[in-house]
Amino acid sequence: MPELVVFGSVAFDSIKTPFGSVEKTLGGSGTYASVAASFFSKPGIVSAVGSDFPTAEMDFLKSRGIDLKGLELKQGKTFHWSGEYGLDINAAKTIKTEFNVLADFKPQLPAEYTKADFLLLGNNNPEMQLDVLGQMSKKPLLVIADTMNIYIEKQRDKVLQVVEEADICLLNDSEARLLFKTPSLVAASKEILKLNSELSIIKKGEHGALLSTAKGCFVAPGYPLENLVDPTGCGDCFAGALMGFLAKEGRVSEDLMRKAIIYGSVVASLNAEGMGLEKLREITLDDINKRFNEFKEIVRF
Ligand code: AMP
Repeated sequence: MPELVVFGSVAFDSIKTPFGSVEKTLGGSGTYASVAASFFSKPGIVSAVGSDFPTAEMDFLKSRGIDLKGLELKQGKTFHWSGEYGLDINAAKTIKTEFNVLADFKPQLPAEYTKADFLLLGNNNPEMQLDVLGQMSKKPLLVIADTMNIYIEKQRDKVLQVVEEADICLLNDSEARLLFKTPSLVAASKEILKLNSELSIIKKGEHGALLSTAKGCFVAPGYPLENLVDPTGCGDCFAGALMGFLAKEGRVSEDLMRKAIIYGSVVASLNAEGMGLEKLREITLDDINKRFNEFKEIVRF
């Protein structure tokens, strides 16, 4: 049984950055998150792929210990996202999104997934996220949901419901400002805490993350990365590594959450050093721990 259930897209990505480009490489929010989580624990992925999905990539996911019972193989083409980045590498410009087999996807959790203690609702339509959450047969220890601008603009009330029903909704700074109509991330965090959340985490791209509780806050730095190649999937890596670390620990506390945020930042920063999944395919837990220790040094004063 997976320790962590990841609901998200499994995709082909075509990516162009100022430092390189790739066509139809393995990507997707669910892929990035579960590969990032797999360094720490055993994730199971809930998504669908088409008949064009290569067996070699299926084998790669299996080789990472990712459970694929929740990955439906459907007639048709795999989800395809094309994106481009300029020198302000934090902002992706979506060129095209072809939903293909995910267009009419009705996620159905395998029975054993419904008992998992950790659930990551990757970037998706908020109604689908609520549907997956509703399929859990017992309340997980931790539910984290990701979202994005299009859903905040088009389905604000549903996104607010997700914030309320998940334990933590992972927003980045621009999403938090958009959802709560405030320039202040501290004010946005307070709004999140009012919505039935004990913790709020706002990601600030390459500048780290802000963790807030009723008692105070923790400011995690971003890693001072020089060799930034492609930020695709960094948000998903942050969420996946954070959840994977907590799932390995099997419990949640504020202290563990601080560590989990640093692990999230570490895996996200390593991911940005290669095109697509290139870097995640080659790193080991030792590389992750080495950078984790560098983080300690960065914040020491
Ligand atoms: P991130 O850079 O962390 O925001 O995530 C990038 C990943 O999200 C890419 O690998 C895409 O395949 C995937 N993606 C892009 N748009 C969507 C969408 N509307 N729904 C699900 N996944 C998406």
